[in-house]
Amino acid sequence: MSDYVDSYYRDSRRITLASPPTSLTGSRRVDVAVVGGGVTGCSAALHLAERGYSVALVEANRIGWGASGRSGGQILTGFGTGMSTFANALGADDARRVFEMSREAVRLTVDRIRRHDIDCDLRDGAVYAALKPRHMKGFAAEQKHMRQVYDYDGLTLLDRDALNAHVRCPSYIGGLYDAESWHLHPLNYVLGLARAAQQAGVTLYEQSPVERIVHGRTPIVHTPEGALTAGHVVLGGNAYLAADVAPELSGHLMPVGNYIIATEPLFPAQVAETLPGDDAVSDANFVLDYYQLSAAPADGPRMLYGGQVSYGKKPPKRLNERMQTKLGRLFPALQNIGIDYSWGGLVGVTRNRAPHFGRIGDNVFYAQGYSGHGMALAGLAGQLIGEAVAGQSERFDLYTRLTHRRFPGGERLRTPLLVLATNFYRMRDLL
Ligand SMILES: Cc1cc2nc3c(=O)[nH]c(=O)nc-3n(C[C@H](O)[C@H](O)[C@H](O)COP(=O)(O)OP(=O)(O)OC[C@H]3O[C@@H](n4cnc5c(N)ncnc54)[C@H](O)[C@@H]3O)c2cc1C
Repeated sequence: MSDYVDSYYRDSRRITLASPPTSLTGSRRVDVAVVGGGVTGCSAALHLAERGYSVALVEANRIGWGASGRSGGQILTGFGTGMSTFANALGADDARRVFEMSREAVRLTVDRIRRHDIDCDLRDGAVYAALKPRHMKGFAAEQKHMRQVYDYDGLTLLDRDALNAHVRCPSYIGGLYDAESWHLHPLNYVLGLARAAQQAGVTLYEQSPVERIVHGRTPIVHTPEGALTAGHVVLGGNAYLAADVAPELSGHLMPVGNYIIATEPLFPAQVAETLPGDDAVSDANFVLDYYQLSAAPADGPRMLYGGQVSYGKKPPKRLNERMQTKLGRLFPALQNIGIDYSWGGLVGVTRNRAPHFGRIGDNVFYAQGYSGHGMALAGLAGQLIGEAVAGQSERFDLYTRLTHRRFPGGERLRTPLLVLATNFYRMRDLL
């Protein structure tokens, strides 16, 4: 059980919860018990409380302690996989419904931020940057396909000059701008969502790890000093959920470590020479770089730059030095810039990179494995679980029709196999 990791987000936290959560002691009966205080859990709790259910949420650490409070903060349309994954599995019509839901996920995020007055530096615009001609070809095909098949007009192809208005990086040859995507301060966002849930009647418990679930007509969720008996349980532990809490989910997720640095505050000239459009950026590589500026504090915005990955619990060696070198190569104006923070978290990746939703029995729901796209999709997942608990599971069940295979190799071999696969893609990124 831990406090927040040492990150820029922790030190720029502004949202306080409506009342400080205690840990769970004793037994309580509720309509719905939610496990995990990230976007998935807080969104489900908020939505269910708005529908009139009594809800308690138990978080092993602090609200927003997991990936949600450490992420790159990009609120993106679409998924961690291309739409063909959905079209092949569900057919063209349902793939269109699924894509529309990814747009709904973004709108839901923005609406909740406005409705609940969540002060989380919300800004619009996301750019995908091309490093090679084959990336530009891919972007052009994607833009055309999304317009023709999915009626999506939000994408604009950018040549090098047009890209310069958004991001000024000599390595990029062009890009694709998504007008419907956004970015924000992720820890303030998830804390704001949790505060809204409290205001809707949800009881939050922190430092209350669920150790065991007894399944049955009214499942019981056990923490070291307490228990919740509920009509339904929502599992929102994602990459942090221990296998013994839900053995049924074991092997479906690869928890991949992903790391971000925050530079020292930039001078206005450095902002103008790097991210004049104040957009979120990610490049087109498989192991991708992504970044945004923090919203300007009095001393200037920082570059929040992410992308280094690891497959063990330890951060990559010489993380800061490597990130500083990469950043300096991308942006000459930031060569040798000081790094004030670095931190990492676990991304839950599925084999097909589509989100993994489902039920254990008929009253325990889970949503996980957004594969790097969860900041918006986890909000939608919470809403869809809320609908399913209320008996309207048609939208949730679109996702349960996707086939999710386990990673091969069991607990010990899974990581080396993914490293091998990723190294292959990393090499391809270089070509
Ligand atoms: C460095 C990084 C950058 C990322 N950048 C982006 C981005 O820019 N855009 C994007 O869309 N996605 C991004 N992601 C992914 C995104 O953050 C996640 O998909 C999303 O936050 C998942 O939310 P969640 O609520 O499902 O899981 P989490 O936020 O991880 O929350 C799970 C919570 O469950 C708790 N928990 C686990 N087990 C138990 C238990 N037994 N009992 C009680 N509580 C438990 C954990 O403590 C944790 O707080 C990034 C992830 C990382 C790590």
